[in-house]
Amino acid sequence: MTDFPPLREELRGLAPYGAPQLDLPVQLNVNENPYGPSPACVADIATAVAEAAGSLNRYPDREFTELRTALAGYLSRDTPHGIAPEQVWAANGSNEVMLQLLQAFGGPGRTALSFAPTYSMYPEYARDTMTEWVTGHRESDFSLDLDKAHALVEEVRPSVVLLPSPNNPTGTALPPEAVAGLCEAVGDGGVLVVDEAYGEFRRSGTPSALELLPDHRNLVVSRTMSKAFALAGARLGYLAAAPEICDAIRVVRLPYHLSAVTQAVALAALRHAPELLGRVDDLRTERDATVAWLREQGHTVADSDANFALFGTFADRHAVWKGLVDRGVLIREVGPDGWLRVSIGTPAEMTAFKQALTAVTEEGL
Ligand code: PMP
Repeated sequence: MTDFPPLREELRGLAPYGAPQLDLPVQLNVNENPYGPSPACVADIATAVAEAAGSLNRYPDREFTELRTALAGYLSRDTPHGIAPEQVWAANGSNEVMLQLLQAFGGPGRTALSFAPTYSMYPEYARDTMTEWVTGHRESDFSLDLDKAHALVEEVRPSVVLLPSPNNPTGTALPPEAVAGLCEAVGDGGVLVVDEAYGEFRRSGTPSALELLPDHRNLVVSRTMSKAFALAGARLGYLAAAPEICDAIRVVRLPYHLSAVTQAVALAALRHAPELLGRVDDLRTERDATVAWLREQGHTVADSDANFALFGTFADRHAVWKGLVDRGVLIREVGPDGWLRVSIGTPAEMTAFKQALTAVTEEGL
């Protein structure tokens, strides 16, 4: 008897990716921005969507020219060299951007490389595009040993290197010299993707990899509107790279992949960038305070340039996670054994988290 449905062999028995979506009062598990848009921003988005609705009988602008121009303008703040619209590509979340990168540059007979612990979706992009997946390892402080990284690149000759900076789940940022050196090591035989999903939260003094684009044509810098931009529900991710890379992605994208509604929402949100990003400084302050508090309690905490903190280590992290759930606080059981990750919320949410964690640890967990 044949199994039904006739799934690819390597997909049999696998569960879909995703953090538990539990309806708890304090949600600190998927690194969202806790601050929603203002009434003025909501009104502007609603007007833009209403306008787009009038022509939903037509397919959207396949090249999303206006959105690409607006995103280029936004990114240009982070590099003295500026970013041109033809250097920008966008899709439904940076998840889709990266899947498209693997579709274009990975595939059978090719290898994608990252360094663990790293974002847990990466192996899934590789699996879905039939790209071989190889992981090196980060050091005990979650930094990259560049000599070891270069040696692995030499050995594996990857077509795609995926490097989140700041890294998820550890929060570790990569210094620009490391990115530049790895771009050289990868050479024209591959692309190096710096996933800056949390880029806007980095501590001052760490430049964005966007600054390196003029010197490295194999560099891709990926961003998202889901985190600092407080727009996770709209699904808009994007990248900056050499125009040849954007042209290559165009070959694998589905036609009209960005709906007219998505384009309208993202454009309206970009007009409110100062407001939507206005809370980033507050979140960074809250992050530093949370890291300091966790350390005062005797926990080990990874240095974080993102809107979350990885802390531990617990003999039974699941019991700690569950103890917090029982107190209405949802965090994430992710990362190396024994560690837990908490997203940075509002001051009230962080107070609830601290009280719950204190209660749980007092139980001796
Ligand atoms: N990259 C990293 C490192 C992430 O943590 C996430 C989301 N958790 C993403 C990419 C994907 O984000 P989105 O698809 O919402 O843009």
